[in-house]
Amino acid sequence: MIDLRSDTVTKPSPGMLEFMMKASVGDMIFGEDPMVNELEEMSASMFGMEAALYCPSGTMTNQIAIKAHTRPGDEVICSRLAHIYQFEGGGVAFNSSASVALIDSENGTFTTEDVEQYINNPNDCHKAYTRLVEVENTVNRGAGACWDFDELARIRELCDRYGLGYHLDGARLFNAMTADGRKPEEYGALFDSISICLSKGLGAPVGSVLLGNRDFIRQGQRIRKVLGGAMRQAGYIAAAGIYALRNNVERLSEDHRNAADIAKALEKCSLVEHVSYGGTNMIIFTLVPGMKASEFLDKMKDHGILALKTGERSIRFVTHLDLSEADIRKSCEVLATL
Ligand SMILES: *Cc1c(COP(=O)(O)O)cnc(C)c1O
Repeated sequence: MIDLRSDTVTKPSPGMLEFMMKASVGDMIFGEDPMVNELEEMSASMFGMEAALYCPSGTMTNQIAIKAHTRPGDEVICSRLAHIYQFEGGGVAFNSSASVALIDSENGTFTTEDVEQYINNPNDCHKAYTRLVEVENTVNRGAGACWDFDELARIRELCDRYGLGYHLDGARLFNAMTADGRKPEEYGALFDSISICLSKGLGAPVGSVLLGNRDFIRQGQRIRKVLGGAMRQAGYIAAAGIYALRNNVERLSEDHRNAADIAKALEKCSLVEHVSYGGTNMIIFTLVPGMKASEFLDKMKDHGILALKTGERSIRFVTHLDLSEADIRKSCEVLATL
């Protein structure tokens, strides 16, 4: 099967597995797991941030960040498409008792002016305290859209002006940096906290890292414990993260080229109405009227290709490191015959 459902379906490569097998480990909660310590130090220094926290998932790193930034009753400004709002089980309410102010836009990016409209007057007792601005780069439900870095910088200034926290859900930040050419330190300098996923395009089987200043990460350690994310000999999986950061960042441009090829093939496919491609490793497209997503997926499956339904007439394709050149060629050929 050619699996285009998600970049989370990858399996550890033989090199990664070997590196995991050789990991020296210890009790992470005692601060004694050398691989976890190395991964945290390596990612913090990569982004020029003070400290880092290794967690089982990107949902956990985001939720810890929101919890640390807010108090019950506070409000978080984010896109209506945001993963923290759409796909984290209502965690903003469940974990932080916070509400959300949702910005509508085509691809999940927005402007400084959009944000400013949603900042509540702290002296108006009818309104929730606005506490945090959250952005996602790349935007998952925005077809892998990449933010304009200058806009992100302007939003930083706005946050400073109003005393708001600024969190980046960077589940696919390395895809964004591959597309925009920015360096990790540039992102590290903009945000109060950043979540990166090792289990997406970077190909580790599990794991995410939360970055922030020392005090923030100390708070995060406590919240991670409460959420049940404090692991013991996690070095075996942290080793996969180290391997991923060392070996699987540069090759992301291949995934982007492959996605661009598939986007082109989709443009020519007679069953496709509209293709959204954000220039990274993801494509979301709608089908012509009368064509159901489930029906299209069945046709693809008959040709040995898996994809993800995102709506009654919309589908997502994602490219990743377990797809070969032949897989991409075949996918494009199949789309041409439909
Ligand atoms: C995958 C993803 C996450 C984290 O998801 P987990 O499955 O919990 O690791 C967070 N944000 C975005 C945008 C994602 O795509």
